[in-house]
Amino acid sequence: MANALVRSVPFFNYPHAFTEDEAGVMKVILDVGRRGAFILQKDLEEFEKNFASFTGARHALGVANGTDALIIALKAAGVGSGDEVIFSSHTFVATAAAIHFAGATPVPVECGSDHMIDPSAVAKAVTKRTRAIMPTQLNGRTCNMDSLMTIAEKHGLMIVEDAAQGLGSKYKGRAAGTFGIAGTFSFYPAKTLGCYGDGGAIITNNSGLYETMRTLRDHGRDRHGEVVMWGYNSRLDNIQAALLDYKLKTFPQVVARRRAIAARYDSKLRGLKQLLLPPGPVEEGEHFDAYQNYEIEAENRDELKEFLKTNGIGTLLQWAGKAVHQFRNLHLNASLPFTDRVISRYLMLPLNMAMSNEDVDYVASKIAEFYSRKS
Ligand SMILES: *Cc1c(COP(=O)(O)O)cnc(C)c1O
Repeated sequence: MANALVRSVPFFNYPHAFTEDEAGVMKVILDVGRRGAFILQKDLEEFEKNFASFTGARHALGVANGTDALIIALKAAGVGSGDEVIFSSHTFVATAAAIHFAGATPVPVECGSDHMIDPSAVAKAVTKRTRAIMPTQLNGRTCNMDSLMTIAEKHGLMIVEDAAQGLGSKYKGRAAGTFGIAGTFSFYPAKTLGCYGDGGAIITNNSGLYETMRTLRDHGRDRHGEVVMWGYNSRLDNIQAALLDYKLKTFPQVVARRRAIAARYDSKLRGLKQLLLPPGPVEEGEHFDAYQNYEIEAENRDELKEFLKTNGIGTLLQWAGKAVHQFRNLHLNASLPFTDRVISRYLMLPLNMAMSNEDVDYVASKIAEFYSRKS
């Protein structure tokens, strides 16, 4: 073999998420297991309290996953049949599926050059039936919420934030998830705050909404066990809650490390005119980004992806390479040329807690090498 791999940089290292602190994780699991505390126990309550306080929201509710979080939030907010909900097509299908399963019509719109929902596209998509805007706090960034809130106020719309990728990010000092009537999160293992299975949460400042969501989460049962509405079973496992509470303690360090990797990519790749980089991390400014993903746009994207692969570097096309409106069988029938172009050029570089600075430099140098060979 002539060219043995110098280095291997996987896109995400799942075993590392467990082994990086195996002793700490096992201690939590043993503690919960020996207490037999599996469903709706104090570890969940403590996590909810700490998660609310981390985001600055009044209430947090643990649920089974990030998709359920969206469905429960929309249902509790009264979104349903006859309503339209506007969302960015550059999102996970779960955003649109939640609107669908709440009984409403998903209305996809364009993203902007920072890949976040384009407020001017939102304004154009409002009709008499529009009930809510559901922005995705994508890639660890919070949208320009001032623009979205202005549109929402003007037309009397609710905002429900899909902040599954937004934890730790802020807009004008305010955390993702705290702008609308509710904000939702996912603790899928590859999310910045990941558990060891599925998990999700909803935050809100609205106490009435919180009580309804709490009831919906547990079979429609109120605090006395009385069934007061049709509900779901969407509880966050107590063992996952305990693990999340444990990991939340060091989450600010995780965000700091992710920002450092993004800054390193930014400084090494900024000079390449064939790339469009995400906004770099800034200390003072409107956006504080947590870099759930480092999503670039690249010329000769497919060739670059292949070149990196042969050099041991894992990259990923988000949503397997399609925006929601591009899934024909969902019949959304939207024409979104700007999003189509972004999707044809986008690529996520590895950005994870298993990476060293040398790994980051290696990725950047291979990208530079690819384009120097092309010219
Ligand atoms: C991960 C994700 C979800 C769904 O989360 P699950 O916990 O897998 O249900 C929803 N929206 C976005 C933008 C996501 O990235």
